[in-house]
Amino acid sequence: MMFDSHVVRLLDASVALVNALTDGSARGRPYTAPRGAESAPAIVAALPPAGTDPDAIGPAQADHLIATAWRMREIFEAVDAGDLDAAAATLNVLLRAAGARPQLDRVAGEPWQLHFHGRDDTLAVGWSAGCATALALAIGSDLAGRLGVCQAPRCDRVYVDGSRNAAKQFCSTACQNRVKAAAFRARRGGSGSGG
Ligand SMILES: [Zn+2]
Repeated sequence: MMFDSHVVRLLDASVALVNALTDGSARGRPYTAPRGAESAPAIVAALPPAGTDPDAIGPAQADHLIATAWRMREIFEAVDAGDLDAAAATLNVLLRAAGARPQLDRVAGEPWQLHFHGRDDTLAVGWSAGCATALALAIGSDLAGRLGVCQAPRCDRVYVDGSRNAAKQFCSTACQNRVKAAAFRARRGGSGSGG
């Protein structure tokens, strides 16, 4: 396996936060992210099911996570464009801002586990620190290329490729199927040259 399950969860959360909280296009349609208080349910849905209460995500926490999501989008786009220098620079800004630091935590009855905390334990800073550290572990390893932006037309959602053969190109099977269907239509209705 590539990373321990905690890091994988954080990478999944990074992807989910970017895709929920940044504008652009998603699976063929324009996407406008929820703003302010309306983003709370999207944030809860993006994070692992740890019983996060949407009412506990105030406007300041939401805005902080939205800003983190936009920075993380910059990082995914830089990696996708092959510009690891830009990705690293942006990521270092994010790590410093969050005050990311490792800490061993333990849930009763379970083994000690390395977690990543921020300069305080608010939801927004904690998740910003955790997601930034997980992205740093990916970019600082030979797994940097696993971060990507969907290659389908009219979609800019991001993904982390956890597949064995590192062949993922799309954010979802919906986009993969769209591209396949378009290629099929192009072959049938194309120039007729049989190509
Ligand atoms: Zn897509």
